[in-house]
Amino acid sequence: MPQDLVLIGGGHSHAIVLKMFGVKPLPGVRLTLISDVSHATYSGMLPGHIAGFYSYDECHIDLRSLCEFAQCQIFVDRAIAIDFNNNRVICQNRPPVNFDLLSIDIGSTPATLSVPGAAQYAIPAKPVPEFLANWNQLITERQNHPDKPLRVAIVGGGAGGVELALNMQSRLLSEVRENKSEELANLLSEIHLFHSGAELMPAHNQPVRRRLKEILINRGIQLHLMEKVSAIEKQEMIEIASDSQFPIPNSQIYCESGLKLEFDRIFWVTQASAANWIKESGLATDSNGFIQVNDYLQSVSHPHVFAAGDICTMVNYPRPKAGVFAVRQGKPLFENLQQFLLTKPLKPFAPQEQYLGLIGTGNKRAIASRGNFMWESPLLWYWKDWIDRQFMQNFTNQN
Ligand SMILES: Cc1cc2nc3c(=O)[nH]c(=O)nc-3n(C[C@H](O)[C@H](O)[C@H](O)COP(=O)(O)OP(=O)(O)OC[C@H]3O[C@@H](n4cnc5c(N)ncnc54)[C@H](O)[C@@H]3O)c2cc1C
Repeated sequence: MPQDLVLIGGGHSHAIVLKMFGVKPLPGVRLTLISDVSHATYSGMLPGHIAGFYSYDECHIDLRSLCEFAQCQIFVDRAIAIDFNNNRVICQNRPPVNFDLLSIDIGSTPATLSVPGAAQYAIPAKPVPEFLANWNQLITERQNHPDKPLRVAIVGGGAGGVELALNMQSRLLSEVRENKSEELANLLSEIHLFHSGAELMPAHNQPVRRRLKEILINRGIQLHLMEKVSAIEKQEMIEIASDSQFPIPNSQIYCESGLKLEFDRIFWVTQASAANWIKESGLATDSNGFIQVNDYLQSVSHPHVFAAGDICTMVNYPRPKAGVFAVRQGKPLFENLQQFLLTKPLKPFAPQEQYLGLIGTGNKRAIASRGNFMWESPLLWYWKDWIDRQFMQNFTNQN
């Protein structure tokens, strides 16, 4: 009887696992991927895609073609529960999928539930397909109405929010800059960044935080630090201001301080949260609902379940939720899945303590951040671009 290894989610770690299974298959193992998308986003290039530097294909992994290479069947569907009594994954549309061994790499989404109106009226940065659909719609609006003032809010001042603010502004400006002065282009594309803390990017060192704040201010991005967004409302009726041919922005942000501002779009990039069904399935999770795994990336409660990327918390090595860790976990995850299937001893994995963050600033420049070290140079962008393209090269032209 073949053993069924089922992978849920085509995140960064699973993309590497699939690639490695293609190179080193295991006889007697039937591989299945359940993914709610057929193309998985590579997070390192997502901000660059927003800025218009990368096409959709350049920053997406074609999971069907990767699965073909790995001899893995793919079900494009959403997993919604795990039935551990019968060892099967419950999907939204198709019949349940049986497994002997399960691996989960479904990422995270920005937490919206605690703020009234956020789930309905804000656009979370994940799931990426919905986020990109909204972003593309805004770009089309910009192109069709180049004279319409646009006000965009980004809620969340971590690395993701800061990078999005800079890259979104860059793209919106490039859409109107051609026939307008720099000043007018800036007036037509207002970007506001809301952050509940006193300092942006708390996971990074002081010089990096200071420099990025300086860049945001110099670019005219309006910072609202120490502003906790308490509610979002939408006016049902879109009013047309008497002196304008355009509808006025119709989403409102309310802050605990009493600040109230209106926007055309509100993007949500706050703290990562885990899908509820993970905890509901009975897997041991941390206080935020992320799967607790040991040094083998194996669930501490269910030995036949492994997890990697944002959705897991390594109990002995808590780390920030960043794509770089998901990528690093790919190889040890592959090795331990194979060891488990061969009933051989698992191999411990220790993630690095410090990591190199390369933060793109939307102008084909980047800032490097590692521990207490900061470095800024146009060369860093080319380095980042090279690293990212090398990564994506693994998943193009299989064979
Ligand atoms: C705006 C933004 C910019 C970022 N920029 C960077 C950056 O430059 N560098 C960096 O290191 N990190 C960055 N991050 C963080 C990074 O996106 C994540 O840490 C990284 O994507 C985690 O990888 P993952 O493999 O855990 O999951 P993901 O890359 O999120 O992949 C999970 C996959 O699982 C699928 N999936 C989810 N739920 C289900 C389900 N129920 N059933 C089936 N499939 C499912 C999803 O569609 C997705 O394809 C950024 C995050 C944001 C929000």
